Amino acid sequence: METVLVTGATGFIASHLILNLLDKGYQVRGTARSAEKAERLKKILSDYAGKPVEIPIIAADLGSDDGWAEAVEGCTYVQHVASPFPATVPKHPDELIIPARDGALRVLKAAKAAGVKRVVMTSSFAAIGYGWGDNRPNPLTEAHWSNPDDLEDNTPYARSKTIAERAAWDYVEGEGKGLELAVINPVGVFGPAMSEDVSTSLQIVSQPLEGKLPAYPKICFGIIDVRDVAEAHARAMTLPEAAGERFLLSDKVMWMEEMGQVLREAYPDRKVPKGTLPNWLVRAASWFNPPLKQILPELGHDRQVSNEKLKRVLGITPIPAEDAIRASADSLIRLGVV
Ligand code: NDP
Repeated sequence: METVLVTGATGFIASHLILNLLDKGYQVRGTARSAEKAERLKKILSDYAGKPVEIPIIAADLGSDDGWAEAVEGCTYVQHVASPFPATVPKHPDELIIPARDGALRVLKAAKAAGVKRVVMTSSFAAIGYGWGDNRPNPLTEAHWSNPDDLEDNTPYARSKTIAERAAWDYVEGEGKGLELAVINPVGVFGPAMSEDVSTSLQIVSQPLEGKLPAYPKICFGIIDVRDVAEAHARAMTLPEAAGERFLLSDKVMWMEEMGQVLREAYPDRKVPKGTLPNWLVRAASWFNPPLKQILPELGHDRQVSNEKLKRVLGITPIPAEDAIRASADSLIRLGVV
């Protein structure tokens, strides 16, 4: 039985990927910043799956060499999912860029040394659609790269994903030659949460359900369901034609106001806001509400994305965005988050 290492096993995407890989018959091992997280993860996975699920967890931090050699030992594949994904803008971009880039290189180097066949890395649409200014292609595809030096049309998080993914490709094209790499670039990931500790992307659903927003900023997001993201990682791991490729994952792009409409229809008893806030007001509010700084480069920008390669090469027809939004909301309500 082949063994797969999933880094950042405690995360939203990684948890779904672990269950997907176990269902396919792989032996799965995870890393977490602390091995103490194993017990909680066991409960989360078992509750969601409706049966006992337990995987070994090895402690490894992206910021340190410790643990990575042990984590990859005997693995045929590595799914490198871990990366800092905070809801707020850090004091210094290096707080995200250094662990994202150096952590990816630690994982790749350990994988190469252990004779791993292929690494699948979770990058992001953030490594494709930013830093284009007024020249943004429409639609954006896997052929496009964000420009991390454009600080206007970027966030530290987006820069961290671009720089980390570039470093990974440079590594396998140079020193790491022979190690296969496939990269997954999801847009905003929705779908069912497994635990109350929700990923940053799900706050886009939790905040309107909590009635915390007066109206929506004029921003749009590509939407993909986490179950498709898990399946895409699994298929990119073994499909021969996926080696050396990036895959942009999206069902479709929706304005926040349209997402609100889906929530209003599904939960008429909740005070889900209506309407759009003027851009100047969101910019002004970001001075008092720092998490809003994260969305400033998005204001008014329509970034259409292609999912042609996802369908053609990975053979995945995405779950409709509206279903992904409703699945997030249902899970957040069930878990008592909102
Ligand atoms: P989560 O926040 O749920 O998961 C992030 C994971 O990364 C956590 O397990 C976290 O561990 C781990 N991590 C963060 N920093 C470190 C570190 N220094 N050392 C070791 N592990 C670390 O987010 P998601 O599941 O949503 O994100 C997973 C991946 O998907 C990330 O690479 C993210 O950039 C990418 N992505 C996510 C999208 C989305 O919309 N959700 C869209 C596109 C890409 P811990 O539990 O210890 O904090």
